[in-house]
Amino acid sequence: MNAEIITIGTELLLGQILDTNSLYLSKKLAEIGINLYYKTSVGDNITRIKEMLSIAANRSDLIIVTGGLGPTVDDVTRDAVAEWTGRKLLLDNELLHRIEQFFKNRNIKMPENNKLQAYLPEGALILENKVGTAPGFILEHNSRIIACVPGVPAEMKPMIETGLIPYLIEKYGAGKFIILSKRIKLTGIPESLIDEKIKDIFIESKNPTVAILAHQTEIEIRLTAKAENKEQAISLIEKLKREVYNRLSDNIFGEDDETLEEKVAILLKDKKLTIATAESCTAGLLSYRLTNIPGSSLYFLGGVNTYSNESKINLLGVSAETIKRYGAVSEECARQMAQKCREKFGSDIAIAISGIAGPDGGTVEKPVGLVYIAIDFKGDIKIFKFNFGGLRDVVRARASQMALFELYKLLKTS
Ligand code: AMP
Ligand code: MG
Repeated sequence: MNAEIITIGTELLLGQILDTNSLYLSKKLAEIGINLYYKTSVGDNITRIKEMLSIAANRSDLIIVTGGLGPTVDDVTRDAVAEWTGRKLLLDNELLHRIEQFFKNRNIKMPENNKLQAYLPEGALILENKVGTAPGFILEHNSRIIACVPGVPAEMKPMIETGLIPYLIEKYGAGKFIILSKRIKLTGIPESLIDEKIKDIFIESKNPTVAILAHQTEIEIRLTAKAENKEQAISLIEKLKREVYNRLSDNIFGEDDETLEEKVAILLKDKKLTIATAESCTAGLLSYRLTNIPGSSLYFLGGVNTYSNESKINLLGVSAETIKRYGAVSEECARQMAQKCREKFGSDIAIAISGIAGPDGGTVEKPVGLVYIAIDFKGDIKIFKFNFGGLRDVVRARASQMALFELYKLLKTS
């Protein structure tokens, strides 16, 4: 069974709300092994909704429609589906009674237009709304299943979970399969190089399928398996996962929702090490990330934002001579920042970042994106030089990311 989602609402097309419904529905369909191939959004317009239903019915067995089931004039899903299937809208007395009861229980007089919600296309199966007044419904038409649910997420979700999914499982044997994904997270490596290293697996493997997703500072390799149960899916994924690890272990730091700062925190705690930061171009981004983890006071002693030359000299004790000779963005300055930071805070480790975030301030020798990161690990100082691409916020994000990643690698081997 192949599914398709149509989300309805002009607000979706005007960029006023984010379509979270289809995100939720996608996950639910994967859980019962239904392939989802298309998602579209249409405004509150009968002609275009009907047009979309025709397209969807041509290529999908199950069409899930969200939105446009309210009582107001702009809610036209009910009419569009009725017209498109050539069915009459019929008043369902029991449904009307339920809607009336909804208002009675709240001591409110039912507005006349709510009566519209008791009309459903002939032959529709009601999906009860336990939260609001808009009922959902399932219609089987020309061997297609059309399920219409409200746009309000809190009303839609229970309807899917207690109505549509059990229906699909019972009537169509859905749920015999499960679609499961594992995301392997990497950093410090370009997408194209990952592609080169796993291209053959990418092409050969059909189950799990492999995808590469690039984010601002991280890349994910997603392995998606379809199997009869979770254990089987996991075992299919594990086999391929091992192969990916063999080829890319130097750049892998975690899986699924794990973050780099979380993984660093675990290592710092395990090894009972303390850390401090001295930041210039990132101005606190690294210390912010390190302290995003609950319980970070166990390892994070503090940080200084030494943005100006004076603060590097006066607060940290970097030598004025060094800055004059090599500049603030230099290996020498970063080295002293880390060393002095460790001394001042009395930590086991100190990280310093100094760079040119741009858009101004670059020169031929020192272009925008040049960043030095120094890590003083119990007196052993390592310097890393990067030339990051991207705008100001990207350079800063990448600088904090690579500082964490170099630290992570050092901690793993220390
Ligand atoms: P409707 O069922 O069209 O009356 O939708 C009512 C409300 O549900 C909208 O105003 C939105 O706040 C919300 N909504 C509708 N569609 C979506 C969607 N695809 N994702 C998230 N929220 C939605
Ligand atoms: Mg709407």
